[in-house]
Amino acid sequence: MTSFDRLFIGGAWQPSSGGDIITVRSPHDGRVVGTAPAATTADIDAAVAAAHTSFDEGEWPRLDPSDRAAAVERLAAIYTERMSEMAALITDENGSPITFSQLGQVGAPLMMLLGFPPLVGAFPWEETRTGVAGEFTVRREPVGVVGAITAWNVPQILIVAKLVPALLAGCTVVVKPSPEAPLDGLLLAQFIEEAGFPPGVVSIVPGGAAAGEYLVDHPDVDKVSFTGSTPVGRRIAARCGERLKRVSLELGGKSAAIVLDDADLDLTMKGLRFVSFVNNGQACAAQTRVLASRARYDDVVDALATTTRDMPVGDPHDAATEIGPLVSERQWERVQGYIALGEEEGAKAVVGGGGRPDGLGGGWYARPTVFAGVDNTMRVAREEIFGPVVVVIPYDDVDDAVRIANDSDFGLAGSVWTADVGAGRAIARRVRAGTYGVNQYGPDPMSPFGGFKASGIGREWGEEGLADYVELKSIQG
Ligand code: NAP
Repeated sequence: MTSFDRLFIGGAWQPSSGGDIITVRSPHDGRVVGTAPAATTADIDAAVAAAHTSFDEGEWPRLDPSDRAAAVERLAAIYTERMSEMAALITDENGSPITFSQLGQVGAPLMMLLGFPPLVGAFPWEETRTGVAGEFTVRREPVGVVGAITAWNVPQILIVAKLVPALLAGCTVVVKPSPEAPLDGLLLAQFIEEAGFPPGVVSIVPGGAAAGEYLVDHPDVDKVSFTGSTPVGRRIAARCGERLKRVSLELGGKSAAIVLDDADLDLTMKGLRFVSFVNNGQACAAQTRVLASRARYDDVVDALATTTRDMPVGDPHDAATEIGPLVSERQWERVQGYIALGEEEGAKAVVGGGGRPDGLGGGWYARPTVFAGVDNTMRVAREEIFGPVVVVIPYDDVDDAVRIANDSDFGLAGSVWTADVGAGRAIARRVRAGTYGVNQYGPDPMSPFGGFKASGIGREWGEEGLADYVELKSIQG
């Protein structure tokens, strides 16, 4: 059990003003794995007030960027020491297979904690330019108080990708993690406390949608950074638009993996096994539309079905497990609904289908499913399912494959699988997606990450992620 009886408000542990407790149950067997207070609107007020005072009057925004980088480096050292504890806690909360928790759920945040601080040295905080009327100065100043709202699927990646660049830019930050995964956020708060940030600079206040909405609307929040679903992103964007508040959005996806005719199917399946089913299919960038030429369609479907059958499903703490449970009953119901819909739409589940896998009745386990006989107009090909469900869509030729990949409301990610890397890179240039892989998918944590179209606005990670937390100011004279 990992339980917290207080929230992290303005850098200090404080009781919630309300009495609601979030009880986190293991999606594997329903046992209680921890509890945390649910932040109320009064708690959000306290966190924003601390951030606001600290931004206006405190030392943090005025420090030399290298001093802020040193504080993040202290945090990185603590994170390195306590990675295994963090990985196990995330697996407890959301059922992520422990191997992925170690590699991705905490491995990627650690790479960001290590990768961001060196960027501050070369970042153009202040530069002199020559215009048409003489010289002027361009300054990059922190955007102010940041409200960060995150989803449960890769909770530390999402928090760290917002918190660290915002801090390095000189912002103060209020993080509102999702109630499905509040514990890892509060464990991170312990690390932050130990690293020693000045008062008011960081608050971590898990809570539900009402707390999130209150944070979005708060007049003293200068910028909202949101990761979650596209419908909620639209709502947040509209509210921020009304208030002329800065906002960045990392939203859903329905990414396509294009398998070219010259692809080695064994190697391709080794890749798709991970990139299509990563994190039990609960990944924004999962490649859940597999595009195969009509000539090789049956071969690709057979190979994908064989691979999918071969993936061990079970206890996410078992190192052999590749597919764990879905995060919650609500998510399980959603995935079951889409599997039933696929069958109604005329697709054929060549592996998997509705219901639970044998022997796993006690948790929120779905059967990894591959649908064949799918065309790109079906809802199972157009909507984000967010579970271990992959559809295989036939294409006529390469132009048709690119057309289908682009025929989506989303534009988050994609991949192409081919013996000809040059041909793969040519396709990468034509697909409208924020990140792309040739014979792989796994963007570098220091590369810009984000979406075209309904997958979001803005980019996180790397230099662009840091630039997302500054305002530009031109000074003449
Ligand atoms: P969600 O329902 O949109 O929730 C995301 C966060 O927003 C949660 O903390 C949620 O709290 C909060 N929230 C809900 N309604 C709100 C509102 N009206 N105002 C302010 N905050 C609100 O998404 P989810 O189901 O947790 O996460 C899955 C989605 O996230 C998928 O679509 C996935 O693709 C996307 N995602 C995108 C990326 C990316 O980088 N592009 C990465 C990871 C996940 P509650 O949980 O209490 O509702």
